[in-house]
Amino acid sequence: MVRVHSSRLDGSWFFQELFLLLSFPVCNSIITMDLTAFNIISDNYPEEIKFLVNDDDFQFIICVILSAQTTDKRVMEVTPFLFEKYPDAHSLSSAEIPAVEEIIRPLGFYRAKAKNIVGFAREVDKLGYIPTEIDELVKLPGVGRKTANCYLEHIGKPAVIVDTHFKRVCYRLGYTDNTDPEKVEMDIRKNVPKEKWSRLSMTLNAYGRDVCHSQRPECDKCLVFSYCKRR
Ligand code: SF4
Repeated sequence: MVRVHSSRLDGSWFFQELFLLLSFPVCNSIITMDLTAFNIISDNYPEEIKFLVNDDDFQFIICVILSAQTTDKRVMEVTPFLFEKYPDAHSLSSAEIPAVEEIIRPLGFYRAKAKNIVGFAREVDKLGYIPTEIDELVKLPGVGRKTANCYLEHIGKPAVIVDTHFKRVCYRLGYTDNTDPEKVEMDIRKNVPKEKWSRLSMTLNAYGRDVCHSQRPECDKCLVFSYCKRR
């Protein structure tokens, strides 16, 4: 920061410094919340947490689209049959929807899901790539904010993934007072440094599955009992 040295000799220098000191936090900081509970939980989880495993970007996002209203385990069981026949955007884009429905039937909502994944494959095949910005991703068939954020996390970009587990744990720990997924996402985006978004998402998601269940959470085993706002 450049200073005019002569101003140090009169009283105006003091007021300039005071003004800068007072205005700096207001202009440059984001409001951060107390993340002690998250840090404690995070220290007890492995560095890499994965629920859906597929190294191929296209296949990964298809798995995420298919995971709505079913378990990740079921998706992992069914998708090998799908990808054996349709491994990429090009092959899936020209698939007959009834043939896709037949394969993914065990996942539930198979008619809508088949339409979505074939529609998604057609768009990606036309584009020639999968977008890497949330605003573009959510324009594609079957892709909502949760799916888009899962994909961003998968490719190593900061992402706030609001699923049912994350939303519940955030609410109980007082990280949000909202229950609407988009509002929860915005609360976290606003109050948590970007570099922590993905880790926070994966860790609290895992904690919700393991301990802080929707019905009968295991509060006696909770690592962050004293931080819980809604036990
Ligand atoms: S005390 Fe119970 S409800 Fe609160 S965060 Fe822990 S497990 Fe969840």
